[in-house]
Amino acid sequence: MIQSMYTFRRRIIQGLSILVLLSVPLRLLCFDLEKDCIRVYGAEFGLASMFYPLFAIVGLLLFVVFRGMKKGRIFCSHLCPMHLFLETVNNPKTRESGSRKIKVWFWSAVYSLFLTEVILSFFQPLPNQLHLIAAGNKALIGIGSALLLGFMGLFVLYQEKFCKKGCPYALIQMLLQSDTTRFMEFANPDKTCTNCRRCDDVCPMNLRARFESKAADCTNCNLCADACAAELGAGNTLFHFIDPPPVEAGK
Ligand code: SF4
Ligand code: SF4
Repeated sequence: MIQSMYTFRRRIIQGLSILVLLSVPLRLLCFDLEKDCIRVYGAEFGLASMFYPLFAIVGLLLFVVFRGMKKGRIFCSHLCPMHLFLETVNNPKTRESGSRKIKVWFWSAVYSLFLTEVILSFFQPLPNQLHLIAAGNKALIGIGSALLLGFMGLFVLYQEKFCKKGCPYALIQMLLQSDTTRFMEFANPDKTCTNCRRCDDVCPMNLRARFESKAADCTNCNLCADACAAELGAGNTLFHFIDPPPVEAGK
C-alpha cells in the first residue's frame, strides 16, 4: 500500500507514544514511593516542586483538546494504544486471514498486560510487584486483576465500539467538533471509484469510509486515502483532508 507522508509522520508519533509508555515500566517516568518524588527522565520532583510535572500534564491535555478542535480526533489516530490495536486487528490482511479471532485474543493479551504494567509500575517497580504478589498482597493482586480484566474486556468485547460510544475523550471531542474542524472528504467527480472497497476494509473504526469519513467517529487516520491511492495510483486518491476556514466575525 502507498504510504503518504501524513501516515509516515503518524507512524513516528505512534512509535514515540509507545516509547513514552515504555518509560514507565523502565522507571524513567514514575512516582518513587520511597523518595516521595516524581521521576521524569532523570529529573526528580519532590513534594514542593511536584506541580511542575503536573502542570506540564495539564498543559499537554489542554493542547490535545485544542488541537482536536482544529484537526479532529488526532489524539486517537496518533497517540492512543486502542487505535494501534484496531489497526492491528482491523486491517485487510487480518480480516482475510481467517484467524482474526486468535489475533484479537493474542493482541488483546499483549496490550492489556502492557497497559496494566504501565499503570502499576508508575507506583511500584516490577521486582517489588512480583515480591508483593508472592507475599499475597491482596490490594496489588486485586488492582492488577481488575485492570487486566478491564482492559481485556475492552479489547476483546468492545474494540472500536468503545471508541465510538464509551471513550470520554470521544465525547469531549464530539462536543468540541465544529464546522471549522478538519474532516476527511470523499469526492468522486470523474466516477473513477472502482468500488473495490479497500477504503472500507482498511478503516480501523469499521466505517464505510466513502459515506462516513465526515462522521464524528472518523479519527482522521488517512488510511482510507492511502488504500485508495494504492488502488487508483499515487496522487489519484478520492479522499482528501479538508480544513474549513474559520468563520469571519460578523458573517
Ligand atoms: S474513514 Fe478513513 S480517515 Fe476516517 S477512520 Fe476510517 S480510514 Fe481513518
Ligand atoms: S478505495 Fe477508492 S476506488 Fe476503492 S472503493 Fe474506496 S474510494 Fe472507491
